[in-house]
Amino acid sequence: MTSNDPTNPLDPSGLRVTASGTMQQNRGLWEALSKIRGSTKGAELHDLLNDSEDTNVIRFRWSDDRRGSHPKCKTGEVVVDPNDIGRFFETVDGFEQFTLERILAHELRHLTGTRDTGHTRMDNINKWENPVMTPIDGFVRDAY
Ligand SMILES: [Zn+2]
Repeated sequence: MTSNDPTNPLDPSGLRVTASGTMQQNRGLWEALSKIRGSTKGAELHDLLNDSEDTNVIRFRWSDDRRGSHPKCKTGEVVVDPNDIGRFFETVDGFEQFTLERILAHELRHLTGTRDTGHTRMDNINKWENPVMTPIDGFVRDAY
């Protein structure tokens, strides 16, 4: 998909992802996705989603969703819990705060199959979240 979908005017990147939030939330999502494309691995993640036959949905948490950002793979949704933005995570050098782009870098990869498996559940973080985000924010997350 190279041109903007007229039914999804907030899709400047052409990514086959639909955001369902307020205008302001969606604008923040597209900005975050655009930042993610700024790293080689982030561009790879973007292309994986874009080349998928599925339409993926990023939405903010509804009151009946469980707490915490998480994927719903059966419906192709990534649920972002706004309370996660600014939450602290552990790095090799101390604690840093989650940005929307780091949350998306983690959760979007779950949609294409990578899980929080492996030693201390670090597979998705080591294979995707950090490679996407470290060139962008400079942080190496060190714990699930
Ligand atoms: Zn995860």
